[in-house]
Amino acid sequence: MDKAGKILVAGGGGFIGGHLVAELLRRGNTDLRVVDCKPISEWHQVFREIENVRADLRKMDACRAVTRDARYVFNLAADMGGMGFIESHKAECMLSVLISTHLLIAAREASVERFFYSSSACVYPTEKQTTAAVAPLRESDAYPAMPEDGYGWEKLFSERMCRHFREDYGLETRVARYHNVYGPAGTYDGGREKAPAAICRKVIAAKLSGVDEIEIWGDGNQTRSFMYISDCIIGTRLIFDSNEIEPLNLGSDRLVTINQLVDIVEAIAGVKLKRIYNLAAPKGVRGRNSDNTLIGERLGWKPSVSLERGLEPTYRWIHDQMVGESKGHRGGSRGDRGI
Ligand code: NAD
Repeated sequence: MDKAGKILVAGGGGFIGGHLVAELLRRGNTDLRVVDCKPISEWHQVFREIENVRADLRKMDACRAVTRDARYVFNLAADMGGMGFIESHKAECMLSVLISTHLLIAAREASVERFFYSSSACVYPTEKQTTAAVAPLRESDAYPAMPEDGYGWEKLFSERMCRHFREDYGLETRVARYHNVYGPAGTYDGGREKAPAAICRKVIAAKLSGVDEIEIWGDGNQTRSFMYISDCIIGTRLIFDSNEIEPLNLGSDRLVTINQLVDIVEAIAGVKLKRIYNLAAPKGVRGRNSDNTLIGERLGWKPSVSLERGLEPTYRWIHDQMVGESKGHRGGSRGDRGI
């Protein structure tokens, strides 16, 4: 990516978008426009020296306005959350198709040079994820299609649209299939948080309150892989800059149970809690892992931050937020110049 030319980061008030903006700035890409529909005061990271715009990118006019002079587009905007959110908000998740569609149309009209789309492991057929000792998912497993209902279908459709905009209109699109990403400066409460942040929050809450219990969704033996945010950002940049026109997995390939995730967070916190399993809670698929063969071969990428190492700063950041909130102000660095 050239240093000259405007970069649009859609959904930049969110978790991954905020870290991407921070990284672009570190690398000297200063001509940045960051767009999100949330009030700027609620963005996870805000960089005052660049253009920050509040706009609803489901609307065609808004997409045209923010894309008009852009050379590069990163689309990280989506109405999404963890399993608790996507299982109960399928229509809302699918309506993100308006963001994807209108941004692609606007990017084409504005002759954008390259367009990145953040897809998800939820595009993979649920029938390939029915056991905890699941085989890692390869990119080719996405078809024949039967993705996660709602959210996964939207992601697969939008991937496909990126492909056809490239084939039919010559818009250079690149797609990453993110597998669970975690780290500081993301959502940790309110219902949209994902497992690592939710578990950190629950362990911290137990520690602060002295109630030595934790509620776990499901039986705790379901499996996932978790990628630290810095690995995600490096991979995103590599995919964006590459000639890889087909979607690539971007995730960790270390499979852990939710119980093991809790073990690690408890070790960081220095506590041992009584586990209460809520079998009626949303659980998602039984097991999910990323096959990184393709991205390893093509781009030489592999995750470098272990779950133990990545959860430390995540835990610390959420702890600071919660302690800050209990004192009536925002803790940590939300709203500051990055983290
Ligand atoms: P996030 O919710 O923190 O960020 C998404 C941002 O998009 C939010 O700030 C939200 O306000 C914004 N947004 C939603 N609707 C919008 C609209 N109409 N107009 C403008 N902005 C809008 O989520 P994230 O974790 O940073 O995820 C970024 C992208 O990566 C999303 O496309 C998500 O589906 C994808 N993804 C994330 C993960 C993960 O583990 N975090 C996994 C797979 C895929």
